[in-house]
This record gives sequence, C-alpha cells and structure tokens, in this order.
Amino acid sequence: MTQSRRVRAAAHIHSEWSDDAAWPLEKLVESFRRRRVDVLLMCEHSRGFSNAKWSRYVEACARASTPEVLVVPGLEYNDADNVVHVPVWGEVPFLGETPEIAEVLTRAEAEQGIAVFAHPWRRDAWRRFDPQWAKHLTAVEVWNRKYDGWAPNRRALALREELGVPGFVSLDFHTARQFFPLAMELTLDGATTRQTVESALREGHFEALAFSRSALRLASGATGTVLAAAELLRGVAAKALRGFR
Ligand SMILES: [Zn+2]
Ligand SMILES: [Zn+2]
Repeated sequence: MTQSRRVRAAAHIHSEWSDDAAWPLEKLVESFRRRRVDVLLMCEHSRGFSNAKWSRYVEACARASTPEVLVVPGLEYNDADNVVHVPVWGEVPFLGETPEIAEVLTRAEAEQGIAVFAHPWRRDAWRRFDPQWAKHLTAVEVWNRKYDGWAPNRRALALREELGVPGFVSLDFHTARQFFPLAMELTLDGATTRQTVESALREGHFEALAFSRSALRLASGATGTVLAAAELLRGVAAKALRGFR
C-alpha cells in the first residue's frame, strides 16, 4: 500500500532558461531547500524554446534535482502578442514559441498535462478568456507574487469561483524579490517524483497556502464575500517574513 504524503511546492519559477531571468537551477534548488520547499514547479517562457531545447531542459531539471528538492520542468506559453500566459506541466511535447492558447489547452489536456491560467489581470488577459477554456484548466492563479504583491487578486478570486476551478498561488519567481511564503501543498501518492507530482496536480490533490494557511480561507469570509485581504495579510506577513527571507 502506498502512503499519501504532503509536500510543499513553489510554483511558477523562472530560471536562466527563461529569456528574462538569471538564476541557475542549482541556485534555485539550494535557496528553496533552505526555505523548506520540496518541489519546484518550473515555468520557463516558451519564447526561445524549441523541441531540442525542451529535451535538454527536461534533462537539466532531472540533473539539478536532489533528494530534498525535486525540479519539475514546465513552460509558460504566451499568445502571439504576449497577453495570455498559460503555464503547462506534464509530459506534453513542446507546443511552439507562441501557440494559440486554445491549442495549448486542448493539447495539454490530451497529453494528460496540467494547464493554469496565469495572472488573469496582467494586461487584461481575462478579456480574451473564452468560456470554452475553463473545462481544460487545472487552475487559475489567484495570487501571483510578482503582479499581485502582498495579497491575492480579488478579481482573480472571483473569476476562479465563477469558473469553478481551483485556485493556484504562484511566486512567478524571477529575482529574490519574489521570495514569499506562498506554496502549493500537494498530496502525493508515494515518493516525490515528477510522476506523483504531476498526477497530484492533474487530480486536484492540492491546496493553495499562504503563510502555511489556506490562501482561499484567508481571502474569503464565512459569507463568501472576499475580504479586503491586503491589510489583514500585511500584519501576518511582516511576522512570517522575518523567518522566511
Ligand atoms: Zn507570465
Ligand atoms: Zn512567469
């Protein structure tokens, strides 16, 4: 019988394999290990990638993984004019530098991949959202550290609820400025491997955490109305960050 285990993943991490980030995979592994993160859900910009580069990258992630930190390869696809961004994980072939988003979603699903709608409010990406896309999505980012800062995005929370898909909290890590206690807690069926991590994501066996508490509970009142979370969180954050930075 396999035992289910909970691990912490830092989601949406860019390394030097992205065109706008500089951290080597090994440095990310060491820095997040010190912050007690077990899994890095990598997310490199698709622009500049090719089939060959994707294969080399998957191997580099495996090599950079340690017994303590698993590096899971992933790509953040963007549409031709760089408005809609969709992180994809799983054993999905490279889909092109700027593929059609509808194509990304259907292909990812067909290949048993995981697709997330990132930062819906950046450049009003949500305006391009086709309701047909919802059924292919694993999650919607409700809190992107880089764009939303200290609190979840209230409009993204409302969108998530409207679409009926789970929420994701992401660092969108490019530099040390994005270190922040946001984590995806995954319940794995067995050891920490790329396969168990991807299947936990696919099956929705995850919870979005901020400061070790449920991010969605933090963001919603008992009545379901979204609180003005920013002020509340600033107090919690100042304390928690002392130990985290
Ligand atoms: Zn993005
Ligand atoms: Zn990103």
